[in-house]
Amino acid sequence: MSQIDDLPPLRTVIETHGIAAKKSLGQNFLLDLNLTAKIARLAGDLSAADILEIGPGPGGLTRGLLAEGARRVLAIEKDSRCMAALAEISDRYPGRLEVINADALDVDPLAHLTPPIKVAANLPYNVGTELLVRWLTPPDWPPFWDSLTLMFQREVAQRIVAQPGSKAYGRLALLSQWRADPQIVLDLPPEAFTPAPKVSSAVVHLKALPAPRFPANAETLNRTVAAAFNQRRKMLRSALKAVSPDIETHLKAAGIKPTERAEQVSLEAFCALARQLDAG
Ligand code: SAM
Repeated sequence: MSQIDDLPPLRTVIETHGIAAKKSLGQNFLLDLNLTAKIARLAGDLSAADILEIGPGPGGLTRGLLAEGARRVLAIEKDSRCMAALAEISDRYPGRLEVINADALDVDPLAHLTPPIKVAANLPYNVGTELLVRWLTPPDWPPFWDSLTLMFQREVAQRIVAQPGSKAYGRLALLSQWRADPQIVLDLPPEAFTPAPKVSSAVVHLKALPAPRFPANAETLNRTVAAAFNQRRKMLRSALKAVSPDIETHLKAAGIKPTERAEQVSLEAFCALARQLDAG
């Protein structure tokens, strides 16, 4: 295996800076730099983009992104124990890595980065899902990012690319496929991480579409889909009662049978329903 840079191996970095993995921060580190460079390449051509990396930890993926030629990287990490290790990477790549010690949910990336922007992250899955939904549901489109390359538990990755009629189909699939083109681009076994988690993981690449596949208001669509799948075994006329008292009329006007269940309804039909609801 080839060296991607002349910095110390990640095991040494973790020992030197005392970054023992903490469960409370969802820390499962990638220590194989050839693998992190491969994940960086899955984000596409990095040389003409600024990269937002969330949760760099000891910096495995950060080093992959920089070694693969990223123009600039903004890395946001909550754990202050990682700052010294990340500063060493910053020194190795002068002017190309900015590190912020903060919760990613509190930082506005546009205050630090210049478009085009790509997002890359290996995050705890709950934070990853919350950020994904936030990145997919701004009121206006296109968003600040061109693409998202994100590690998830495999089961969550399957929910993002799921099609109608499958158990995995739900809010994540609809929001992801409405405004982006999501694909699973890499499967990783638990042993790829230290410590190894209980489940397998997968990298999902989402390319932002220039415009949503079908017109709809983001907030209405998000709210409707969330309500529909919260009670996924119920018929839509009862699952969506709280969304509108006239829900049967709206469902029919959108071409959806009121007796259908959320799992059977296409993205196009949910967007038609969101438009009907907004039209009143
Ligand atoms: N990217 C590193 C890697 O691949 O080895 C670390 C991955 S580890 C699964 C997730 C990282 O996200 C940890 O370093 C953790 O401290 C950080 N993290 C967790 N919640 C965060 C948040 N809300 N904002 C920023 N970083 C967070």
